[in-house]
Amino acid sequence: MSPTRTAQLMDGAALARRIGEETAAKAADLTRRTGVVPCLATVLVGEDPASVTYVRMKQARSAKAGIASRHVGLPAATTTAELVEAITTLSRDPRVHGILLQHPVGPHVDERAAFEAIAPEKGVDGVTTHSFAAMGFGLPGFVSCTPGGIMRLLDEYGVGLAGKHAVVVGRSAILGKPAGMLLLGRDATVTYCHSRTADLAAIVREADIVVAAVGRPRLIRGDAVKPGAVVIDAGYNEGNVGDVDFDAARTRARLITPVPGGVGPMTIAVLLEQTVDAAARQLRQ
Ligand code: NAP
Repeated sequence: MSPTRTAQLMDGAALARRIGEETAAKAADLTRRTGVVPCLATVLVGEDPASVTYVRMKQARSAKAGIASRHVGLPAATTTAELVEAITTLSRDPRVHGILLQHPVGPHVDERAAFEAIAPEKGVDGVTTHSFAAMGFGLPGFVSCTPGGIMRLLDEYGVGLAGKHAVVVGRSAILGKPAGMLLLGRDATVTYCHSRTADLAAIVREADIVVAAVGRPRLIRGDAVKPGAVVIDAGYNEGNVGDVDFDAARTRARLITPVPGGVGPMTIAVLLEQTVDAAARQLRQ
């Protein structure tokens, strides 16, 4: 019988902490040189408890990194026009360097119209058409934060990407699709899977790198993981459960992200890093 493998954990919490320290040093340096404190504006429509928590977390982490917060809280009944106006005001304010619209914003609001009101140079969350197109063309710009965090984790653990088969499960515009595009940009051979994919397990079994970005607890079973594969679980479901059956997958994978403490902490780390970069670019202009 072959010995049971135990995958090495990819510690996103530790990497996020390090990126946070580097961001704080960059912010302090910028403030010392220019007298300007980088500022991230957060916009929240309604009072969904999870969204309130996420915004508070972002503000607390901003403060720790020497980034100022500006918060715009709007009632749940806010219309698309009102939201676009609030974001446009922030886009025009030179004291604000990055804008984050906490989503989802509610079914009555045109979320895309709201995102497009974010000035391209302030789109630090990587959700505008401009940032998505820049990524597609391989041009510099702000990447969608969770996919950006996934790439940082892969690099941190020395995962070679060129010529590797990456299977991305999920194709949302903020997560699955950009994750696949970033992997493609680094010469991986990318397959996307989604809710209409036939025989998901058979495709995942071919993957050198699996990115799970679905939002279905333990959808990826352990026996669907190729021995020696790298497993990135971006899913986050009730009860701190990912999209991958972690206990089973870790006996086959070479590297795996835990949930929590894997991909999760990377998102805010990349957001704050991009905010300080945005401030530096705007102050250079
Ligand atoms: P989403 O917009 O709901 O997209 C889910 C994707 O999964 C869709 O592309 C969907 O396919 C696909 N899917 C659904 N059921 C499937 C199935 N049975 N087999 C294969 N694919 C299936 O979700 P999201 O915003 O991308 O988020 C995905 C997960 O990541 C969630 O758990 C979320 O909480 C988590 N997340 C974590 C972070 C973080 O760590 N910081 C950030 C963002 C999201 P169709 O396109 O065909 O519908």
